[in-house]
Amino acid sequence: MSGKDRRFPLSLSSVVEKNARTPTPSAAPAIRIATPQTATQNAAQNVTRAREPGENGAIRNAPPATPSRAAPLVSDAVRVAMVARVAKQGVKDARVLAAMEAVPRHLFVQPGLASQAYIDASLPIGHHQTISQPYIVARMIEVLRDNASGGRLDKVLEIGTGCGYQAAVLSLVANEVYSIERIKPLHELAKTNLRPLRIANIRLQYGDGMLGLPQAAPFDGIILAAAGLDVPQTLLDQMSIGGRLVAPVGARHQVLQLVERISKFEWRSSTLEDCHFVPLRPGVV
Ligand code: SAH
Repeated sequence: MSGKDRRFPLSLSSVVEKNARTPTPSAAPAIRIATPQTATQNAAQNVTRAREPGENGAIRNAPPATPSRAAPLVSDAVRVAMVARVAKQGVKDARVLAAMEAVPRHLFVQPGLASQAYIDASLPIGHHQTISQPYIVARMIEVLRDNASGGRLDKVLEIGTGCGYQAAVLSLVANEVYSIERIKPLHELAKTNLRPLRIANIRLQYGDGMLGLPQAAPFDGIILAAAGLDVPQTLLDQMSIGGRLVAPVGARHQVLQLVERISKFEWRSSTLEDCHFVPLRPGVV
């Protein structure tokens, strides 16, 4: 992918048929679980590491207090390295990796955390919520694409827009992306973050994602970015036949669950791996 191709707005075709390299995963992909609880510590620790204590505890070589979004502290090379790490952890789908390489993740985190946007960790986005860890974003989308239609995704629904990052990645692998957020300021934040990227195929919705989006259903892919104790039946009903849903399920111990809709009245569920997400909550705030 050329440097020019990586800039938004991208035409969908710029990543669709791309013969992106298929990295060879390492023999035993390391499973790392980033927890929302550690997001703030991650941020703090990395800021600490980036600084060098000077005399009398003063900070030398401290990064600028307010890094500009227009001149981020990151480069395309850092994002390429992030994608290589995601591949090393076991994500093989070249199209997903290309989409991850295309989306400027630093534009979705608070300016003060921009220098950490490409580490493999969740980071705080305010309102006790987090931007998901890059590995898990890639992994969930890979699972969604591993369908009987050879990876074709027409309509996808995301529950939990947050800052809008995963929606942006999804927009490069699906024809239409619907994303619901229950916290109004985050819904607004996602709009603000996504606007400059001018992505035509994302529809953001403020509301309770546990109710799905009946007016746009059925979906051939549904992703939950927050963990419930089970997957709401309403969402299962909004899957197309042959459609796939990926969701973190559980409370303290969570697992990533894949649900496939076999027929009008049949769903098949399988457990993929451990994970840790913020909780799925009913209603709106
Ligand atoms: N998709 C985001 C992750 C956001 S964290 C990313 O790209 O990184 C999960 C989000 O789910 C939070 O913003 C939280 O407010 C939201 N959420 C939790 N329960 C929800 C519900 N019932 N409906 C919609 N959003 C919900």
